[in-house]
Amino acid sequence: MNEDTKIPLHLEETIQHLPFSATLAMNELIAEKEKSGKQKILHMGFGEAALPLHPLLKNALVESAAYTKYAPVLGLPELRQAIAGFLSRTRKITVNANQIVVGPGSKSMLYALFRIFEGDALIPAPSWVSYAPAVRMAGKKVVYVQTDSKDNHRLTTENLNKALKKAKEEGADPRILIINSPHCPVGVMFEPVDVKMIAEWAKKHNMALISDEIYAELAFGWRKHVSPAVYYPEGTIITGGISKTLSAGGWRLGYACLPDTPAGKKAIKAMQAIGSEIWASAASPIQKAAVVAFAPNASIDHYLHQAALLFGYTTTKMYQIFKDLGVPCPRPAGGFYLYPDFAPWRPVLLKRGVRTGKELSQYLLDDWGIASVPAPEFGEDPHTLRIRLSTNKLCEPEKGTSAKKREEFLWNLLHTVENKDFNPDLPVLKFAQERWTKVILNLNEKTKQ
Ligand code: PLP
Repeated sequence: MNEDTKIPLHLEETIQHLPFSATLAMNELIAEKEKSGKQKILHMGFGEAALPLHPLLKNALVESAAYTKYAPVLGLPELRQAIAGFLSRTRKITVNANQIVVGPGSKSMLYALFRIFEGDALIPAPSWVSYAPAVRMAGKKVVYVQTDSKDNHRLTTENLNKALKKAKEEGADPRILIINSPHCPVGVMFEPVDVKMIAEWAKKHNMALISDEIYAELAFGWRKHVSPAVYYPEGTIITGGISKTLSAGGWRLGYACLPDTPAGKKAIKAMQAIGSEIWASAASPIQKAAVVAFAPNASIDHYLHQAALLFGYTTTKMYQIFKDLGVPCPRPAGGFYLYPDFAPWRPVLLKRGVRTGKELSQYLLDDWGIASVPAPEFGEDPHTLRIRLSTNKLCEPEKGTSAKKREEFLWNLLHTVENKDFNPDLPVLKFAQERWTKVILNLNEKTKQ
């Protein structure tokens, strides 16, 4: 027996290798760097929507503060009803309250889903940092579906078939496929034909299709969000929440919508059993207040639209800056991410000792004060020179602005974003443009030497 295993509190094998979530780790690293005050940091490492909270939600939470009882494990009936109504209105599907499970964030819902369903999981590469660890924590194998950067990381029948074949050769048994649109980290959205193809592929292979739709209401407008549940209602599970769309990540409120079938009902019971032993219920006052987020309300709908336009404005501007600088980057369609590729500068980066995505991110942070998350964290090959940039902070006012003034600044942006001549002075966006221009010009210069 290894000496180490005799120590009390010895960690279980899978957990020993489970790293701290890359995005949260980056956030903490930046906080430290900023505290040291040595360099002004361009914070593009952490994807957190932080627009001002809608006043209806704020008031609803104040009113529900005294609701201190445990809520039912599956969620408050009125909230489950409101979410079912919301999905029926926005996804062109018919959903009833019994299909909904509410929990503390959709992250916990995703873990529970990976835990309850049989088989291993197919995960696109790249995809959100937390899918693979959640699958592994649920005791399953991760099978990556390799996508092509030249094809904007689309899922195709070819790359899905290839992943399935490889999985079987390696002794894995994938029975779950997870997809995400608008996409984190790439920022793209599925074309409707691709959604149909993916749904039909999952159906043909008898897979549970988990559709992470947390950014769905943040589509910028040039591409429509389509849920695969339209084509494969009996096998699709939709997950979502209010963290991104309503800038309420800290409320920790998410949901899963399971199929209205006998198998779906069994799955709901399994979710209830897991929930009853882990989180008991999402916080009751938050659930009560969140009814407002999903019930039909013109003011909330308008806020969602404005938030999508604002993120669309800043993300598209940043995309254009990269395009003008000659940096390959997929055109963003929703959410608040960009996924630029620095492969054209590989030789010059190599001269600086940058061989991997992780080293690229470190170089950008150390030499240029730019925070990012490298491609390998999203399941890509370690040598991939792509990074995820979060654009959510590009609409922030100057650092040091008081909380009150910051809120006014952001409300003003939300209220004017629909104007034809919307062209605000955005200091962080300007700073991002300046700094990225310096980075690329420097790399170009060094390439010539
Ligand atoms: N899915 C994706 C793609 C995300 O980016 C996030 C948050 O970063 C989540 C799910 C989880 O969100 P929450 O647990 O706050 O609902």
